Amino acid sequence: MVKETTYYDILGVSPSASSEDLKKAYRKMALKFHPDKNPNEGEKFKQISMAYEVLADPEKRQIYDEGGESAIKKGGSSGSGFSSPMDIFDMFINGGFRMGGGRERRGKVLEHVLSVTLEEMYNGCVRKLALQKNVICDKCEGRGGKKGCVEKCQTCRGSGTETRIQQIAPGMVQQIEQICRNCSGAGEIIAAKDRCKQCNGKKTIRDRNILEVHIEKGMRHGQKIVFSGEGNQEPDMQPGDIIVILEEKKHPVFKRANNDLVMVMPLLLVEALCGFQKLIKTLDERQLVVTNLPGDVIKNEDFKCITGEGMPQHKNPFEKGFLIIQFQVIFPTSIAPELVPQLEKCLPPRTKVDIPIDAEECSLVDFDPAQDNRRSQHTHAAYEEDDENYHQGPRIQQCSTS
Ligand SMILES: [Zn+2]
Ligand SMILES: [Zn+2]
Repeated sequence: MVKETTYYDILGVSPSASSEDLKKAYRKMALKFHPDKNPNEGEKFKQISMAYEVLADPEKRQIYDEGGESAIKKGGSSGSGFSSPMDIFDMFINGGFRMGGGRERRGKVLEHVLSVTLEEMYNGCVRKLALQKNVICDKCEGRGGKKGCVEKCQTCRGSGTETRIQQIAPGMVQQIEQICRNCSGAGEIIAAKDRCKQCNGKKTIRDRNILEVHIEKGMRHGQKIVFSGEGNQEPDMQPGDIIVILEEKKHPVFKRANNDLVMVMPLLLVEALCGFQKLIKTLDERQLVVTNLPGDVIKNEDFKCITGEGMPQHKNPFEKGFLIIQFQVIFPTSIAPELVPQLEKCLPPRTKVDIPIDAEECSLVDFDPAQDNRRSQHTHAAYEEDDENYHQGPRIQQCSTS
């Protein structure tokens, strides 16, 4: 006989309730009176959580059964105080609450990589994603068979695991926990004829579901968007999450560097020397015109930037980074010799070179560093050989003297 039944009454169970019954009762009540759903029932939620915290812990439950609430409160002052109702709830939901040997778990997380264009990350958009997932079978409501035909497995008493004693050496035994062979870990048995036709006793079916992924302005490559509880459903489990991971597609013009955009702008030599106007199409389809006035020379590989035309900051999209432009000056391959004097007049004068009388005349030949790599290695090797021959004499001498 228990001393008082208040905590049991709060959860709506009898004092003989199993830990599984308590868990079910707590889940039902906690969800019903959760402050998110029922802001006016905070007191009730607190009571439910407190009752569950005591009854879910076999030790505390015994203290309560024998001495009632006052015994628990006394015990509480000696160290193990009460957790906050929210903590209890969160622990319960997240599967951290393993008191009483229950199997409250969370389904597997599903990860999905979503390829996104730079335009989509700049402007923001909604992408629809069709995914397959396991959902609780609606025909049998996740039982796997007809009501009343699902029997608890006798071998494992519903736990899904069995403990076996194995002799590993004479006089030495080992306890092994393994998946129950009778029920394959399901904890229950359904006769073939009673199995649900829709899910074939598996309790879940594959279903297609559409996720709306909101790509917000300024999101980045590798960013994760979590769809809490949208993952696979399984009976007696919190559904797992779906995590969508963004993968930025390569853009033909812009390269992203955090909140900045970098682009290469080819310039003809005449533009680099004499000024230019160029159009840049932004990621939201506007046209920017950039002007370099005549007289300002731009050199090859020079950088310039435009403020506020980079990527929007995530969560603060009116703040934008730089648009950085790297110039690439394209030189003409040749100039008509008769025009050279005219050109020379426009350019800063050349530096005069005094050529000594014994200077040797050489000719310039085209050279491709990429192709010449191999040849230079060759020649290098040849030199080394020569070197060796040349140094052979002196080297031997060095050895003998040391
Ligand atoms: Zn079914
Ligand atoms: Zn079993």
